[in-house]
Amino acid sequence: AAPVITLDGPGGAGKGTISQIIAGKLGWHLLDSGALYRLTALGAERKGVAFDDEAALAEVARNLDIAFLPGAENEPVSVMLDGEEVSKAIRTEATGNNASIVAALTPVRDALLQRQRDFRQSPGVVGDGRDMGTVVFTDAPLKIYLTASADERARRRVKQLQEKGIDAKFQAILSEIQTRDERDMNRDVAPLKPADDAITLDTTDMSIPEVVAQIIDLAKA
Ligand code: C5P
Repeated sequence: AAPVITLDGPGGAGKGTISQIIAGKLGWHLLDSGALYRLTALGAERKGVAFDDEAALAEVARNLDIAFLPGAENEPVSVMLDGEEVSKAIRTEATGNNASIVAALTPVRDALLQRQRDFRQSPGVVGDGRDMGTVVFTDAPLKIYLTASADERARRRVKQLQEKGIDAKFQAILSEIQTRDERDMNRDVAPLKPADDAITLDTTDMSIPEVVAQIIDLAKA
């Protein structure tokens, strides 16, 4: 099977940015698994599916008509849902929160599992998420758990949202992050935690290039 680097960790730890850079440097595929949960949440919302209707939510997840297209400048990938550009719509905090609600349901996770594994293609894949190392790619040779203090993660998320033209307030984002972490860590299915064989990197005081360099070194080792 093609090699995999898994990057798991809480929201705002920099997984998205770091995964993109590493996949680009190595020329590997990128799996943004959070996008799949966000797309499921957005798809459900648009179809009027209730967030406690497990069977209907799993159906939405199974039938997602999505595409990740190379994007315009400053927008690395363009995310499509039912032929419509939703890159911005899936990044709102509301959709992130809904994503973490649907992500706590076993039938939804099951429905997305094979779709995620299908990203494992030559020459390799970088998997960004919460359970890449613990569930989806358990045999990955390199597993990273990226974390940072909640304050720092909230600061990064505010900056990132503002760069995308989405209005964001620090206190609101911090409490969203804490609510979401708590739900992701305490759910029954695939709770957020480092894989037993993961290397934990606390990036609170690290720059993006430092984190990238460290992971590339580990990949070469
Ligand atoms: O990483 P991102 O913020 O896009 O993820 C949105 C939500 O999707 C997370 O809060 C989490 O509940 C869920 N998720 C997950 N497993 C993954 C990726 C994301 O449960 N592998």
